[in-house]
Amino acid sequence: MNVLLLGPQGSGKGTQAKRIEAEYGIPHIATGDMLRAAIEEGTELGERVKPILESGQLVPDELMIDLIRERLGQPDAERGFILDGFPRTSPQADALDEMLDDIGRRLSIVFEFQLPDDIARERLVRRAELEGRPDDTPDVIDRRLELYHELTEPLVEHYRLQGNLIGIHGDRPVKEVFAEIQQALEQAAARS
Ligand code: AMP
Repeated sequence: MNVLLLGPQGSGKGTQAKRIEAEYGIPHIATGDMLRAAIEEGTELGERVKPILESGQLVPDELMIDLIRERLGQPDAERGFILDGFPRTSPQADALDEMLDDIGRRLSIVFEFQLPDDIARERLVRRAELEGRPDDTPDVIDRRLELYHELTEPLVEHYRLQGNLIGIHGDRPVKEVFAEIQQALEQAAARS
């Protein structure tokens, strides 16, 4: 099962991805987490992307594409994966299509989490209090949501055309959202 989660920051992708990972035993691949880990470890990649994350900008496409290509080639991704945070731009989506084509795989399902910006903002401010992420400050949050609408939201159409897109209303209890996801995953599994 190859799952892709699209949606604005704060829409619950990470929370749901962890549940899918636990239930179906496929790895949650979150590019934001990978970049934050690189920063934490002080690697060359980490040094390079630190100021980008702190300002809420996007890391260059080529860098992200290389990172994901390498990650999808790891043995634990052989049985499937949950992609969260990638692709974020049209070149990234095209690169992902190509990568999957090359290895003879396709996305089983794409979930689009929908959440109004004011609710996303509230959730991110709360997360900032809990986790202290440096990019959850009000200005940076606004920048990230703007970039989502400008560059990432148009990808919804890309996946709608591929015919495997499911919309999810994110402003609901975690359990309810997960039940809906599970139902869709089971239908997708039955089809494949
Ligand atoms: P996230 O945790 O998904 O909100 O990602 C945190 C930050 O990592 C983003 O604001 C970007 O700076 C960077 N990032 C994560 N994924 C990508 C991506 N696919 N393309 C470009 N930048 C990314």
